[in-house]
Amino acid sequence: MFARVLVSAILAWCAAAQPAQQPPTHADILRGEYGRYRANNDLLSYHLDVRVDPDKKFLSGKNTIRFRMLQDDTRIQLDLHDALQVNRILLDAVELKYTRDSGAVFVDFPEALRKGRVYEIEFHYSGTPVESGRFGGITFRKDPSGHPWVNTACEGQGASVWWPNKDQWRDEVENMRISVSIPTGLVDVSNGKFMGKTDLGDGYTRWDWLVQYPINNYDVSLNIGNYEHFADKLGDLNLDFYPLPEDLEKAKKQFAQARGMIEAYQHYFGEYPFLKDGYKLIEAPYSGMEHQSAVTYGNHFANGYLERDWTGVGISPRFDFIIIHESGHEWFGNSVTAADRSDMWIHEGWTTYLESLYVEYMYGHDDAIKYLSGYKSKVANRQPIVAQRGVNRTPPQDQYFKGALFLNTLRSVVDNDQRWWTLIHDFYQQFKYQNIMTEDVVTYFNQKTGMNLTPVFDQYLRHTALPVLELKFDGQPGDVAYRWKADEPGFEMPVKVGSKDHWQVIHPSAGWKTLHTELVKEQLEVATDLYFVNVSKL
Ligand SMILES: [Zn+2]
Repeated sequence: MFARVLVSAILAWCAAAQPAQQPPTHADILRGEYGRYRANNDLLSYHLDVRVDPDKKFLSGKNTIRFRMLQDDTRIQLDLHDALQVNRILLDAVELKYTRDSGAVFVDFPEALRKGRVYEIEFHYSGTPVESGRFGGITFRKDPSGHPWVNTACEGQGASVWWPNKDQWRDEVENMRISVSIPTGLVDVSNGKFMGKTDLGDGYTRWDWLVQYPINNYDVSLNIGNYEHFADKLGDLNLDFYPLPEDLEKAKKQFAQARGMIEAYQHYFGEYPFLKDGYKLIEAPYSGMEHQSAVTYGNHFANGYLERDWTGVGISPRFDFIIIHESGHEWFGNSVTAADRSDMWIHEGWTTYLESLYVEYMYGHDDAIKYLSGYKSKVANRQPIVAQRGVNRTPPQDQYFKGALFLNTLRSVVDNDQRWWTLIHDFYQQFKYQNIMTEDVVTYFNQKTGMNLTPVFDQYLRHTALPVLELKFDGQPGDVAYRWKADEPGFEMPVKVGSKDHWQVIHPSAGWKTLHTELVKEQLEVATDLYFVNVSKL
């Protein structure tokens, strides 16, 4: 037993130390690439109309897909997991031919679709989806009282694990209807505004929801269960909460935190992005997910993350990590969205940074810095944050914590808080409801600051190591030589050195410069809470 434990411990350590970098598979590329048969059209709307049988774990229904052709062409690419059947695909009641390949469905038209014209196809499907990934994709569970509990969370695997769509990140529909038919007596909570329910007369009831904004495929969700409902308002914003009955009292207490978090984010970035759709918190059997306007929650109705002090510095226990994090995604992830999974730090780095803004709004700057510094121990520096483009893979975890620490570093580079608040507010406002890449972020900050921050972004996002500030004390007494050691050619970044409360800004580059200081080697500090860098004293 001991030996086996030891061997598996060593294997686990090796796996952690050297993350496998397998070449992307055919399926990874088919799903990840924005190829010709995706780029030739622009999504306008979906109407997903699905019947869910919780006992048989069976789905059947159709997605009506409206799109505008951007080129003349006879083929488009959609996606549906191999475990699900394609029943038929129709254009104006004419059945279309299709070819399936590793989750992709290539739909062929009898004659060329014309550039600029709008088309609507019906994609009928059915089957029993396969559970996969961290949260299962789609799961058919029972709640603790034995009622059916069906939930989705499929960011990694993609929405095509449970419904047919154009399963990529670059192109979003402008609006969506979601109709979910379920056994009468259960509740479905999906995204958007609740439009009503209709008794279908066969033991099933259809629940209709309307999403009135662009939405990521993976954000589209259903939550079917024996839900209770209570509501609140924040100004004009409807807040709706859906716990299981046994958790109603706990939810009334815990979910009250959402108000203050939304207020904090509105303070920094402007109005909640999905006002017409409202804001919902829905109990789910996994920790949580940022489903647009319908955040799912499974954080035990306790502060911290799964009852732990998430950053280990005593601040996380003051609030609910899932509500603060997933609600932040309404601004970054759902409203401002990355156009390729490679650039997912635009969701996760920014949202993790938003957590610290909430801390700053509530408890002040010192606690925000303490909270952020608690993330340093979670940073691996093994793979770049921005991953290979056009491949269906989740970038490394550094996108969260290193991403947030990088944004805090950028604030220190700007070194003017009023300017920083305007910069990040206007950044959100400029790109809300859009799908962007890292290049758009860099261009924005370069233009608005008048600085060349490209090497700084590249060092933190496209290399593994942190920049190292080298300090050399062996010259004239009272003089210290300094320079940056970094991977990115031309990396230059101001940084503060000296002692706490008496920082001075220096402007190191790759060549040695000299600073005159009264401080000796042991006394001279670098403001590493404000700049996420390593320091080497030579
Ligand atoms: Zn997140």
